[in-house]
Amino acid sequence: MAERFLDIPVDPVDSKGALDAARVAVAGERPPLLVIAINPEKVMKAQSDVELRNFIEHAGLRIADGVGIVLASRLRGGRVRNRVTGVDLMLQLVAEAAKQGWRVFLLGARPEVNEAAAAELLRRFPSLVLAGRRDGYFSPDDAEHIASEIAATGADLLFVALGSPAQERFLLQWGDRTGTKVRMGVGGSFDVLAGRVPRAPAAMRRAGLEWLYRLYREPWRLRRMLVLPVFLVRAYLHRQDRAGAAR
Ligand code: UDP
Repeated sequence: MAERFLDIPVDPVDSKGALDAARVAVAGERPPLLVIAINPEKVMKAQSDVELRNFIEHAGLRIADGVGIVLASRLRGGRVRNRVTGVDLMLQLVAEAAKQGWRVFLLGARPEVNEAAAAELLRRFPSLVLAGRRDGYFSPDDAEHIASEIAATGADLLFVALGSPAQERFLLQWGDRTGTKVRMGVGGSFDVLAGRVPRAPAAMRRAGLEWLYRLYREPWRLRRMLVLPVFLVRAYLHRQDRAGAAR
């Protein structure tokens, strides 16, 4: 069962649980799996953004991307124990795809970034079958056609890196048309894979300080990150309110 943060659901899974869910979906034993990474920023945005909220409610798997969600859960004795970052889960899914022969499609980012991300994945997982790829700069009028093209490649896994909310919008509107079995919005992950945005050193990642490294690299993110303390306080108080109401 999902744990709700300001009424936005997050699933208390670790990466093994997420991979298991993907396996079941690729095997066709369950409906296609829509994966969304949730961080405090998205929770706050979804308070007023009905489309985003709708998307999150529709997703089969909402992973806790961001130490803020785990922190909020701990503060109130919740069940979300692990962070499962979007880029890590994507890499695990691709590793599994290479092992199982699942076909992967990469949609999004600038053409050269898309190409470099694909090359990097093939370097890391030489047995990977890339069903196809396409950059993310197209008109909304072309979205339907692109979804049909993806379907024609027979891809099992679809990673969409169009940024928010474009990737959510694409997946909600055209996800089914792509015929893919696991679909995931991955934000700036292709840029990370292509080496355009370096990841934090491993020690910082393990300590849950990736956000601090990003702030150092991209100081303009400060405004966006300021939602974290607001989120923590509200998520904590919200729980108290509900407990009070139930008494
Ligand atoms: N992007 C795209 N098409 C667009 C706008 C953005 O493919 O029309 C790509 C962009 O090149 C980047 C990714 O979307 O690779 C994520 O962008 P950003 O980091 O701005 O998104 P966020 O996840 O922060 O919303």
